[in-house]
Amino acid sequence: MGAMSQNPPDLRPDIAPAARLEGGPRPGQPSIGMVSLGCPKALVDSERILTRLRAEGYAVSPDYEGADAVIVNTCGFLDSAKAESLEAIGEALKANGRVIVTGCLGAEPDYITGAHPKVLAVTGPHQYEQVLDAVHAAVPPAPDPFIDLLPASGVSLTPRHYSYLKISEGCNHKCRFCVIPDMRGKLQSRPAHAVLREAEKLVEAGVRELLVISQDTSAYGVDRKHDRHLWKGGEVRSHITDLARELGGLGAWVRLHYVYPYPHVRELIPLMAEGLVLPYLDIPFQHAHPDTLRRMARPAAAAKTLDEIARWRAICPDIALRSTFIVGYPGETEDEFQTLLDWLGEARLDRVGCFKYENVAGARSNDLPDHVPEEVKQDRWDRFMQKAQAISEEKLAARVGTRQEVIVDEVDDEGAVCRTKADAPEIDGNLFIDEGFAALRPGDIVTVEVDEAGDYDLWGRLV
Ligand code: SF4
Repeated sequence: MGAMSQNPPDLRPDIAPAARLEGGPRPGQPSIGMVSLGCPKALVDSERILTRLRAEGYAVSPDYEGADAVIVNTCGFLDSAKAESLEAIGEALKANGRVIVTGCLGAEPDYITGAHPKVLAVTGPHQYEQVLDAVHAAVPPAPDPFIDLLPASGVSLTPRHYSYLKISEGCNHKCRFCVIPDMRGKLQSRPAHAVLREAEKLVEAGVRELLVISQDTSAYGVDRKHDRHLWKGGEVRSHITDLARELGGLGAWVRLHYVYPYPHVRELIPLMAEGLVLPYLDIPFQHAHPDTLRRMARPAAAAKTLDEIARWRAICPDIALRSTFIVGYPGETEDEFQTLLDWLGEARLDRVGCFKYENVAGARSNDLPDHVPEEVKQDRWDRFMQKAQAISEEKLAARVGTRQEVIVDEVDDEGAVCRTKADAPEIDGNLFIDEGFAALRPGDIVTVEVDEAGDYDLWGRLV
């Protein structure tokens, strides 16, 4: 399903489905269940916690019943996500009874214990040590000299052939609709060599596509003053341009998410033209009218984004641009909205997600004057999506007859589900192969000729 056909109840473009783990415990081995709600960033946290637990000899239970305790990694971004988290905690309590809560909603412990006084412990986002302490208290580890050696890649909740790579946490901006900086703190970048070593291990373990994530990828390393680290006999700066170039040399596809339109982003585009990094930019513009952007307090609000896009396309004509937008932001006039529509017509983005503005508890935009009535928001959303869909259709139709490299995600009796370089997993479209696919395996990268295009997806055959 194309991302544009939905308006998920979440302002983040990065919604991933809840993940559950496979594999069962050996007799006598302590066992932990885990439910991971929310975005890919939360998924990365879940993976880290599970990797540590595995290393300590815990098994990961695929269901609540077989687990000695259950960790619920929550999302607290929107009221609807909070409700979903509370529901998941309730479900785990009912099925298992021993529940440890972590993640974004853990930043509001009273909210959780108010609804579910029986939870064993509540910890906030990235409090790995506290989560582990809570697990140790609830289910003591039973060290076993014969425990399986940790796989090189740790425990991965995403399919083995692609993996999220978190390069930093937190954010130095203060967008008025966003509470992430309050929950996750200021930007904290991982040292470049640590990111690269993790990426290298992932590629050695079979990962073919690395999805670089953070809250603000273009700001990577600013907090470290772009310090230098030894890497492979040379030096690498903790700067997104250096990092992207080195990642591109590892032999896997590299996809950049959450890049803001700062001038230095221009330096990344030649890496795309050279084929080191996928010609794909996930860049959350959110709006196009300068007054709306200012009221949102967006980073790079004054950027001349249409000029920037034209520059990028001049360097790398194949670049696929994905973005998300908010319509009906407080004070958005018809005139401002029309500017956004016109901008979209000129920018001709490849993939677009759009959200109707919604108050989030604690966000400063809640107090802005002139909130837009629901029916106006809906009307603007409809008009925006109509235009975005028409552009997407035209752009996909133009790819019929072209040859594209695709990565195979899934193969079943009916065909192979793949993605082109222009499509990120979970949020963009697919390319389907329904003939001659029997020998394909997930993670294969093959060339196809596109023979049909739909609203959001493509069909093709192997060449
Ligand atoms: S850049 Fe803005 S929207 Fe993104 S995490 Fe930071 S404050 Fe939130």
